[in-house]
Amino acid sequence: MPERRPDRALGPGHNDFWQWCAASELRLQRCATCGELSWPVVATCEFCGSTDLAWEHMSGRGRVIAWTTFERDYYAGTLPIPWDTILVELAEGPLFLSNPKGFSWPDITIGMPVQVAFVDCEDSAGPFRLPVFERGQEAQGGD
Ligand SMILES: [Zn+2]
Repeated sequence: MPERRPDRALGPGHNDFWQWCAASELRLQRCATCGELSWPVVATCEFCGSTDLAWEHMSGRGRVIAWTTFERDYYAGTLPIPWDTILVELAEGPLFLSNPKGFSWPDITIGMPVQVAFVDCEDSAGPFRLPVFERGQEAQGGD
């Protein structure tokens, strides 16, 4: 049974993002002109304005750099309250706003490693797979 979620923001390029998520891949747009990653989805590179963007596979690894717990029903009962939101700094650099899976606010520490996971959801536009984050592994020694 998919989780009911508030409606996604959809626009040019968003279908590509959600199709990668449906395949359990987190991909962001990398600019072929300047090499930077743009996120959220853009029509032109947010750094140089180029339209030469390609969907690049992300490792899905990151660290929690901020979080908050909402106790007010902002979505008319769509999400059970309270619910947690985390800000993840992806290993590749971009910041990604998401939800924790398998842990909640008492467990969250700033800097804790997380790993992307995908959960079946639906909104008024239909079913989709939402990228969320589970506890990750601490980086191994050496590099
Ligand atoms: Zn660029």
